Amino acid sequence: MASIVESGWRYLITHFSDFQLACLGSFLLHESVFFLSGLPFIFLERAGLLSKYKIQTKNNSLAAQEKCITRLLLYHFCVNLPVMIVSYPVFRYMGMRSSFPLPSWKVVSTQIIFYFILEDFVFYWGHRVLHTKWLYKHVHSVHHEYATPFGLTSEYAHPAEILFLGFATIIGPAITGPHLITLWLWMVLRVLETVEAHCGYHFPWSLSNFLPLYGGADFHDYHHRLLYTKSGNYSSTFVYMDWVFGTDKGYRKLKALKKMGVEEDSKQT
Ligand SMILES: [Zn+2]
Ligand SMILES: [Zn+2]
Repeated sequence: MASIVESGWRYLITHFSDFQLACLGSFLLHESVFFLSGLPFIFLERAGLLSKYKIQTKNNSLAAQEKCITRLLLYHFCVNLPVMIVSYPVFRYMGMRSSFPLPSWKVVSTQIIFYFILEDFVFYWGHRVLHTKWLYKHVHSVHHEYATPFGLTSEYAHPAEILFLGFATIIGPAITGPHLITLWLWMVLRVLETVEAHCGYHFPWSLSNFLPLYGGADFHDYHHRLLYTKSGNYSSTFVYMDWVFGTDKGYRKLKALKKMGVEEDSKQT
């Protein structure tokens, strides 16, 4: 496995420059992972497949789905790509490299766990600020246009929000100067996590069933379907920030009521 990764990486760094890999390579990897992981949820919703696992009964119209995709392509090319190019010297200055030797799995996993914890912390506070009246009305309401989220809506947001909350994603790598392979793995995991949080389905195999600290789709779907002043659940990945700062009370109450309902039903049958 390690030798496959090494020879693949050797091919990349002998055929492309550091700049090409860090900017264009990262952009292409992001687009591939984002659309490949997000599009299946549009097809599930349209085909009505696995509907018993769908969190909300409401479906999105075809026009709403198309609007999401066209805006995303526009923002990805006009915001994300220029940001990747402009921030490249910063990452280089902070120590990012693509050369051999590749980092050990211990280093990669430690850095990525740190990025997830830091991102969740910064995102939580940034997201709470976006739920204040003025910022919600002028910026964050764009992301909340979709009260019934589907995977691709995860990155559907006002350009100012893309920059503001994107900071939470890049702050960890920016201060630790990781190897590019670590940065790519972090980007892939973060995209999969946010697409899952917006997918609109809670499956028996969803990660939140096995990791109690992980939020997942059920947690973030609640944030989208409630009024912006009452929603809570501001975290991106974990549940503890909302628990510590008391912004998940409504969600916990609803979960407790649902559990009681299920127990009552099972007693009656
Ligand atoms: Zn929000
Ligand atoms: Zn969201």
